[in-house]
Amino acid sequence: MSISRRGFLASSSLALACTALDWRSLLAQGPSPQQPDPLTLLRGTIGTFTGRGGTIGWHVDRASVVVVDSQFPATAQTCLDAVNVRTGSRAIDYLVNTHHHADHTGGNGVFRPVAKKILAQANVPRLQREAAERAVLAAQNAPPPPPPVPGAPPAPATPTVVPPAQQVYADTLFDTTWRETVGGEVMALKYYGAAHTGGDAVITFEKANVVHVGDLVFNRRHPVIDRPGGANIAHWMVVLDQVARDHPADTIYIFGHAAPNVAATGANADLLYQRDYFGALLEYVRGQIKAGKPREVIVKLTDVLPSFPDHGPLIERVLTAAYDELSA
Ligand SMILES: [Zn+2]
Repeated sequence: MSISRRGFLASSSLALACTALDWRSLLAQGPSPQQPDPLTLLRGTIGTFTGRGGTIGWHVDRASVVVVDSQFPATAQTCLDAVNVRTGSRAIDYLVNTHHHADHTGGNGVFRPVAKKILAQANVPRLQREAAERAVLAAQNAPPPPPPVPGAPPAPATPTVVPPAQQVYADTLFDTTWRETVGGEVMALKYYGAAHTGGDAVITFEKANVVHVGDLVFNRRHPVIDRPGGANIAHWMVVLDQVARDHPADTIYIFGHAAPNVAATGANADLLYQRDYFGALLEYVRGQIKAGKPREVIVKLTDVLPSFPDHGPLIERVLTAAYDELSA
């Protein structure tokens, strides 16, 4: 089964010389009065773009442009077009990848010609290459699709597998911490260790106090836990706790994913809620193991996790990851 099928899919020259007043008014307006602006301003110079895949973050002021994550090519182009309206198509100083997953790096190629640097944690290019290798193998071994049923709606398109050589990788890497002034902002990156993958960066825009945590939070939905990509649930809980401690009470967080009708932004309390969900998940699976149930039974359970009914019934993806971590 390809990484993409495991469910995390269910889930963007003319130099514009302008005054401070001009760029502030550009920040405040959309592409045109006729078209709704796909960019949402959160605080200061930081905002979000929600298309298909992991939530994109952006920072635009008159001296700098940063984009965090790139989704997939089509929505990356929509995002880039909207950013270009605000910047007068200036070059992007940094495209940051929060981690290697295809719904966060798949649009890298769209940004590559206009991004001076693509920045990520040091493990990301290797994890991205390995994931692409596994996806190619899985596609080769996948059974042929069932024949279409007459009258039934067309099956959803199978996500395109991008082979390792055609992936667009970060060219600027950091190990543990990285910090730089970008225009009127200060952008700090930190790697806290294994969590959702083995290369998750937390990106703090210090002046606006807005933090992109990538897929460290799936707000009120069952997460992807990428064990082949270096995930570790127990340490993910530690990471969430440390990220919450490292930031003040009024921090606005951007989350990679959220349940339908739930915000992809939030506060420290949402990080701790995600931490406690993992605690409950591990406790639940530990209990099932203690009761003597085998793996194949446990991973198919559909109970509602005690205290987390908003997530709906448990699913095989999270149960498998928890079981395998606990029995490793
Ligand atoms: Zn992810």
